[in-house]
Amino acid sequence: MNAVDIIIKKRDGQALSKEEIDYFVRGFVTGDIADYQAAAWAMAVLWRGMSREETRNLTLSMAYSGETLDLHDVAPIVADKHSTGGVGDKTTIAVAPMVSACGLPVGKMSGRGLGFSGGTLDKLEAIPGFRVDLSVEEFRAQLAEIGLVVSGQTKRLAPADGKLYALRDVTGTVPSLPLIASSIMSKKIAAGADVIVLDVKTGRGAFMETLEEARALAHAMVDIGQGLGRQVAAVISDMNQPLGHAVGNALETAEAVMTVRGKGPEDFWRHCLAIAEQMLILGDRARDRATARSMLHKVVRSGRALRKLVEWVEAQGGDASVLGDPPAMAVASIVKDVVAPRSGQVAAIDAREVGLAAVDLGAGRRRKGDSIDHAVGIVLQAKVGDRVAAGDRLFTVHANDREECDRAQERVLQAYGWAEKGAEPPPLIYEVIG
Ligand code: URA
Repeated sequence: MNAVDIIIKKRDGQALSKEEIDYFVRGFVTGDIADYQAAAWAMAVLWRGMSREETRNLTLSMAYSGETLDLHDVAPIVADKHSTGGVGDKTTIAVAPMVSACGLPVGKMSGRGLGFSGGTLDKLEAIPGFRVDLSVEEFRAQLAEIGLVVSGQTKRLAPADGKLYALRDVTGTVPSLPLIASSIMSKKIAAGADVIVLDVKTGRGAFMETLEEARALAHAMVDIGQGLGRQVAAVISDMNQPLGHAVGNALETAEAVMTVRGKGPEDFWRHCLAIAEQMLILGDRARDRATARSMLHKVVRSGRALRKLVEWVEAQGGDASVLGDPPAMAVASIVKDVVAPRSGQVAAIDAREVGLAAVDLGAGRRRKGDSIDHAVGIVLQAKVGDRVAAGDRLFTVHANDREECDRAQERVLQAYGWAEKGAEPPPLIYEVIG
């Protein structure tokens, strides 16, 4: 067997056997298969697709490319959630402490920004000192001690995904159903969660733009997880406009903190509830959505969720003094308000364009290993359905470079669509599968 034959086979649209997939994944992890070969293979998978069986084999191969955790000695049920990637999606940072404060341990392996979509690890690193490179021992110990841990891949946990994810980010090979399904589910399987809630995004700011594609991805991941005896649900949620107001690492982390304080944007809060409710139901902490919702309201109102957030940040070495009201994280040197060029109703905000504008400002990567600027991003003041008058503040650009600021301003202005009347915000949630 050799890597080139496997690339050619996939390039020509043939199905790969379990042995070929295992060989390729193993070789990529050990370094015997080069990055450029893995990139060519990923592009072939993107174009040619994979059967259900190939996708499942790829998932297992990536999941077992390192150790897999059994957390049952730490907690009887551990919950996890994962998003397929979106713009302004800081859900984990708010939901994880809320759910953990309800008594359901959350142990999660997260990723970095991918293409135009942000990544939880990058957002968490906006908190000074916050460590995302925990060892397996640290992951387990923290879960046992405070019931909440979020880490990145290590060389020991799903290393194949860690490497492939970084490569896909910079080779245009993200939006592929088998690559996304295997990337997410391999991490979930390796990290040992019993309950997995998948936040499958659909729309302009998602890798699956249509509802049909999102449904297919949701079914593929739910099937893989359930086949391995996990409790899995997929929530298909809207990503046509950015979620909440903030896009950019520190800005989003601050918005998530404010949400745990009970002061987040309405759409983001409702989205967090939808995800957290599913986690509590599948984790046997609540019998229905109404019960789950009332538990979540209680932990936020009483400050228990905020205390859990502080405990979590401190456990991972972060400086919790920045989590105040308002939070005090990295600040950009240029903060520019942009006003509405006309009166009317906001009919659309192209989430992908806003995500790309944030990447251009430095919030994401263009090359593997690029450093990112935590301070930069965009805060939307007007969202779909809002009525504004010409001259009202529409959004704010946070930048560290004057020219980039101007470019982002133009790009985000173009991302806005207008109507005289009748524009409704899109639904937050389309359906729940599993
Ligand atoms: N999130 C992941 O972990 N992997 C993907 O491929 C997309 C989103």
